[in-house]
Amino acid sequence: MYLKNIEVQGFKSFANKINFEFHNGITAIVGPNGSGKSNVADAVRWVLGEQSAKQLRGSSMQDVIFSGTEMRKPMGYAYVAITLDNSDHALPIDYEEVTVARRVYRSGESEYLINGATCRLKDVAEMFYDTGIGKEGYSIIGQGQIDRILSGKPEERRELFDEAAGIVKFKRRKATALKKLEQERANLVRVSDILAELERQVEPLEKQSTVAKNYLQMKEELKKLDVNIFLLDNEKSKAQIEECENKIAVATNDLENANAENDKIKEEYGDVEKKIAELDASIEEKRSKLSQTSLLKEKLEGEINVLNEKINSANISAEHFATRQKALADDIAAKEAECERLTAQQSSLDAACEELVKKRDEAVAELEKLQSLIEEQNGIVEKNKNLIIS
Ligand code: ATP
Repeated sequence: MYLKNIEVQGFKSFANKINFEFHNGITAIVGPNGSGKSNVADAVRWVLGEQSAKQLRGSSMQDVIFSGTEMRKPMGYAYVAITLDNSDHALPIDYEEVTVARRVYRSGESEYLINGATCRLKDVAEMFYDTGIGKEGYSIIGQGQIDRILSGKPEERRELFDEAAGIVKFKRRKATALKKLEQERANLVRVSDILAELERQVEPLEKQSTVAKNYLQMKEELKKLDVNIFLLDNEKSKAQIEECENKIAVATNDLENANAENDKIKEEYGDVEKKIAELDASIEEKRSKLSQTSLLKEKLEGEINVLNEKINSANISAEHFATRQKALADDIAAKEAECERLTAQQSSLDAACEELVKKRDEAVAELEKLQSLIEEQNGIVEKNKNLIIS
């Protein structure tokens, strides 16, 4: 059996998925301080079930998950898987190759897998008993561990030698057997207690048993009586059933009649429904006509109102015109009287005018006479002027 491969992803400084392949012979990993060499051993220790964060050089189990760098975000989980060649079947499992994996999430959820199947930490530990592999095994010797082994307590050294001698499995089995023996002893004490308690209960139980026997006897008699009552009841029930069957026959007949009646009523109901539908249609038609008529009525009422309004205003105008006509008639009468007066005045004025025309004509004749006299006198004056001038 030898370690073939370690697959790491998100564990400590290994953010990317990385595979360490191991072949026969010795493999050495070299690198400067702090480059992550010990993280490889930590990965193996972790996958084998290490529960102590201190052993993994952290303060909590979440510290094993890649915590990020300046260039890279932290990871959400850490995953490590180791593959062992099991062609010599040193591990008690029917596979030529065994892969043990462990995964832990930041939420705290974690799981162990053996060849891809989920398992318990106990299954992993049991598989590696006495192989030297395991978190306590001597197959992983860390920095300064040799010193610790040599200067440590003899009991701690003993554990290492037991593991190498292959007796851990038996020691563990012995411890389990002793634990079970202790449990059985405790059970035995409990059984003895119960037995003592039961012995104390024997006498009252005997009394109870006699009572119970009486009870059973009486119960048997009761059962017989019950059977008799049942038979009587059965007879009665049969008569009742017969009566019921007769009633059922009558009821069935009634039901048939009722069904026929029902069919008839259904038919009539259908007709009535049809009529109702027709009536509904006609009501609908009439309703629509009614609404049209209502609309027309409203329109006509509106027009009547308008006409009434017009009549009112016409009446008011007629009254106004009558008043106005009367006023005009009075005016005409006054004007006629005025006309008559003016006609009379005109006649007198005409007469006066005629008189004046006559007078004017006389004046004109007088004027013409005077003008010819003036012209004559002017001729004389002109003559005299010329005479004077010459
Ligand atoms: P040395 O020779 O000094 O023992 P080394 O090569 O064995 O060193 P390790 O101690 O294995 O190195 O690794 C330490 C490195 O791992 C440190 O650089 C540390 O920053 C890194 N490291 C440890 N835990 C984490 C983590 N959770 N996330 C990221 N890097 C981590």
